[in-house]
Amino acid sequence: MRVVRTIADLRALLRPLREAGKRIGFVPTMGFLHEGHGALIRQSAARCDTTVVSIFVNPSQFGPSEDLASYPRDLERDQNLCLEADASVLFLPEVAEIYPTGFQTHVEPGRLAEPLCGRYRPGHFRGVTTVVAKLFSIVQPDLAFFGQKDLQQTVVIRRMARDLNLPVDLVVVPTVREPDGLALSSRNANLDEDARRRALCLSEGLLAAKAAFDEGERDATRLLEFARRPLAGVDSIQYLELVDAQTLEAIHGAVDRSTALCVAAYMGSTRLIDNVLLVPSAGEAVLQA
Ligand code: AMP
Repeated sequence: MRVVRTIADLRALLRPLREAGKRIGFVPTMGFLHEGHGALIRQSAARCDTTVVSIFVNPSQFGPSEDLASYPRDLERDQNLCLEADASVLFLPEVAEIYPTGFQTHVEPGRLAEPLCGRYRPGHFRGVTTVVAKLFSIVQPDLAFFGQKDLQQTVVIRRMARDLNLPVDLVVVPTVREPDGLALSSRNANLDEDARRRALCLSEGLLAAKAAFDEGERDATRLLEFARRPLAGVDSIQYLELVDAQTLEAIHGAVDRSTALCVAAYMGSTRLIDNVLLVPSAGEAVLQA
């Protein structure tokens, strides 16, 4: 695995591979890697000839009162995880490499960035689309791998890639969870023992609603009730919503299309998000069409 810190070195490394027809996979991350990232890297390694992983804690996607300074970091462990997951190149740019003096051009996302996390993190998705567009332009991947855990991010980035005609296909990888159900997240490291135990109620709520859905419950209000009951354990719920999995528009009444049940909640000062997909069977869709 090659470790590269500058855009020029990365381009020099990738150019001959691209010219030789190699398929390039890309996994953008903010580091403090876990098996969720590992799953993305492994999928890329399985489907591409070269897998580039970037670690860049992107300042422009953090709000002024958010956890940029305290975002967890452990480069040595990250390198080992990348090696084990079969990454070919680890790209570690400094902030000044991505945002040199004079930088002033941003990618402005549209409506898809407004609900859910966008409502509570103004500017967050603008920071994400800007850095991902830059990273796509630097790496020029054939495939880019993102986690379903950040569902809104996948929808916003897919739209951006279409709108800007970026020649990259997105692959969304299912959320990797701890054995007890908690979605893996770099921010889980900030939870003390008590908060870690209580954080479980996020996935418990989502999975309870999914179980009810799988048994035939289709009423949005009742599904949200199933999810909300276990959430008594969190310190505060930021949102708990059913949205159309493609348009992110709120679902009221009957869940009759691909729907995401999304939650964001605080455990102390740590903000956690999670979601599950509720997909009616093909037969149902036909019945309702
Ligand atoms: P981050 O380092 O948090 O920016 O995440 C980098 C990528 O890993 C994003 O595409 C995330 O959606 C993905 N990711 C984070 N946690 C998980 C998880 N538990 N399972 C699958 N993918 C994940």
